[in-house]
Amino acid sequence: MTRKAPAIVILGTGSLATARKIQQLYPGALVHGLEGRVEGVDCSYQEFGATLRQLYQQDTPIIALCAAGIVIRTLASLLLEKGVEPPVLAVAEDGSAVVPLLGGLGGVNVMAREIAAGLGVVPAITTSGELRFGTCLLNPPSGYALADLELGKRFVSDLLAGEPVRIDGEAPWLADAQLPQSEQAQLAIHVGCQARDVSANELVIYPRCVVVAITAVAPELAATVHEALRTAGLAEPALACLVASDALMAEPALHAAAAELGVPVRFAPGAENASALAAQVLQQLSSVHAVTDELAIALAHRPVDPSLIGRARGRLAVIGLGPGAAEFMVPAVKAELARANDILGYETYVRMAGPFRADQVMHCTDNREEMQRARHAFELAAQGRSVVVVSSGDPGVFAMAAAVLEALHESTDPHWHAVELEMLPGVSASLATAAQAGAPLGHDFCVLSLSDNLKPWSIIEKRLDLACQADLALAFYNPISRSRPWQLGRALEIVRQHRNENTPVVLGRDIGRPGQTLRAVTLGQLLPEMVDMRTMVLVGSSQTCGFPRADGGQWIYTPRWYPATE
Ligand code: SAH
Repeated sequence: MTRKAPAIVILGTGSLATARKIQQLYPGALVHGLEGRVEGVDCSYQEFGATLRQLYQQDTPIIALCAAGIVIRTLASLLLEKGVEPPVLAVAEDGSAVVPLLGGLGGVNVMAREIAAGLGVVPAITTSGELRFGTCLLNPPSGYALADLELGKRFVSDLLAGEPVRIDGEAPWLADAQLPQSEQAQLAIHVGCQARDVSANELVIYPRCVVVAITAVAPELAATVHEALRTAGLAEPALACLVASDALMAEPALHAAAAELGVPVRFAPGAENASALAAQVLQQLSSVHAVTDELAIALAHRPVDPSLIGRARGRLAVIGLGPGAAEFMVPAVKAELARANDILGYETYVRMAGPFRADQVMHCTDNREEMQRARHAFELAAQGRSVVVVSSGDPGVFAMAAAVLEALHESTDPHWHAVELEMLPGVSASLATAAQAGAPLGHDFCVLSLSDNLKPWSIIEKRLDLACQADLALAFYNPISRSRPWQLGRALEIVRQHRNENTPVVLGRDIGRPGQTLRAVTLGQLLPEMVDMRTMVLVGSSQTCGFPRADGGQWIYTPRWYPATE
């Protein structure tokens, strides 16, 4: 099990130095600081409690530089819920104490030792088994799976009562543990791939040495794999991964089966049959058993690290950052950015999407090289990498999603078509601006880009005219730029033929970004000089109205109804 990078959470500047020291121990760890109180952190948060609970629920290990009591009280409401329990530690601001609080089975004591060693102090470890044996027997290292946690707990308490133990099988990580070993012991730690009915005096640990190779997808694939493992006498938790031929990369039934079995699926170029495929990808092969021509079970001498077998199916996500502020980014986009190997996009947006870890590669390009960027993204994803293409707002609104699809549509490369492609939406500038102004788009509306770079100006004029005739509220993207100086003025002439000069207009500039401004004017007052390329222009319909708000500003909204006609 590879852990997510921890979040180091601090409340004040006093703990920044300790936080940075801890950060050096964990590549990818970010320091989160309270907004307005600490400068120079990697991410800012506004509310300590909500932030801690969110990290916890996302299974992110937490290192909080504050009193243990604060952390406990903050997470208390979540502790009774079943589900993930990441490691949670409290560390004294000055680094003088390290207290593991939660996540005993997630390796919290291992982290406590690492952090304490880094800070030159002794960790406050209170877990008896851990203290006595120097390792948590119920938390074997990655590549090994515990058969049964509840039986395991009983086993450890028997050991703590002083009983001796013997080790059957290979358990290299236990070499340094201070276990009371004896060949004649009743208690046994059993390490092996064979399925076993766990008896009360054993701790059974399965090494993940089994790989199932597949060259054709049969119906009920997961059930077939279950059955094949059972017949071969192998324990299911010993399954490390599936490996399939490249031709199956986009096969939904294969991915569904892997998800059901709870293992990753890896790919390799086609082979004559499943046994040959397994032999091709597995080093340290111990045996291969052909269940059928298309399905084989391979056993390795050592636990298999799936990330070293063949390659992953590449993934390409086209994401929307929202208007700018982190709290308007959807959680799926945040998760996607965390898993990305490569991030592509216009430099401003790539920077907005960060900070990134040292192992993530940023590919910043000019805003106009969209097709080239889309093709580059597929080249990277086709190598098995996890790639993110960044747009501001929503990727489907005058942004990269369509460019990426156009590149794929043009391509005949089967590797590009096998990439797992997903678009993740964001809050578009028109919606973010409208929300701040009230509800100017509260009834039917029309979204237009005023840029004639990619379409003839005559089409824009026609659409504007028809949208105005239809009495739609209007949202103008790309309203003006240095190379398109006159277009907005001409567009407004058309609008004025249909709307009176009191029609409310909202101008949102850099919404959700530092220095944002929001202005409400009327169509009569609106001048192209009030607008630049970072501005969103919303023009009301005949029904849009405004009224003063208590803070001195104005609410603008379009009612959901039309006045009844005779
Ligand atoms: N995909 C983006 C739009 C890209 S087109 C989205 O969905 O928001 C670029 C235009 O969007 C800009 O010219 C501007 O009109 C508008 N825009 C983008 N971000 C903005 C923001 N934060 N504030 C105001 N307007 C913005």
